[in-house]
Amino acid sequence: MPPWIDPFLNRLLSGAGLVPACEGRGPVVLMYHSITRGRKSPPDRWGVSEENFKKQLCLLRSKGWTTLCVRDLLKADPLPPRTVLITFDDGFADNYERGFKLLDAYGMRGTFFIVSGKTGAPDRLSAAQAGEMASSGMEIGAHTRTHARLPELDAARIGEEVTGSKKDIEDMLGLPVTSFAYPYGLFNDTCVEAVRKAGFKVACTTRTGWFGSESDLLRVRRVAVFSFDSLSTFARKVAFAGTDVRWRSMAGYFVDRIRSRIAGNGTR
Ligand SMILES: [Zn+2]
Repeated sequence: MPPWIDPFLNRLLSGAGLVPACEGRGPVVLMYHSITRGRKSPPDRWGVSEENFKKQLCLLRSKGWTTLCVRDLLKADPLPPRTVLITFDDGFADNYERGFKLLDAYGMRGTFFIVSGKTGAPDRLSAAQAGEMASSGMEIGAHTRTHARLPELDAARIGEEVTGSKKDIEDMLGLPVTSFAYPYGLFNDTCVEAVRKAGFKVACTTRTGWFGSESDLLRVRRVAVFSFDSLSTFARKVAFAGTDVRWRSMAGYFVDRIRSRIAGNGTR
């Protein structure tokens, strides 16, 4: 049984996700961190309970959303309508049992950005787990060697963190690593150039918005999912690609939509 959401949101979610990325909207890239055990939402806003995560996956699946990995953004084919990208930052150990295992059980995919220097630490994914996740169709991306605040480092150190993490993970998995996420969402032009020079093809930020609203693949926007998000809030985040999904803000969206419909520039 798909989880219940109110009829308005139900309709909204069924009508969302149909605009291709090239028209400036496109898929939503969701950002998770830890998935905590049980039903209770953790006090840390960056964690999501296993129960809520399951409901969110179940909702996406029941509404016909496709999940892709970040690397799939590079494919020449247009992305399917109703696409969502599920990403996890930091490589927490719980991402194996309660992220990967759940996604796999639902036939869904995700990208896990790991901190290469922390692989195998007590609360982090091990090399063997990352390998199993990669061979099951998940993507392992890089999130630097030490979870550094990149803009605060000199050019040599930025290179070490960025290129080093790519090399570490490629050596560990024996696979190319083409996706990166900036720790704390912090980046500037120097960091972006270091990421490009290292050979990454896509890099995720924490700036909010549609994937298609940003033309540079090294500055991809994401929408954070928080511990306290209700299923309705989650549905609105997917439909609007924003973290500010209060009804008042969304009223503005509908006004814009009606205006563009009257002006005849697209109806979605
Ligand atoms: Zn991080």
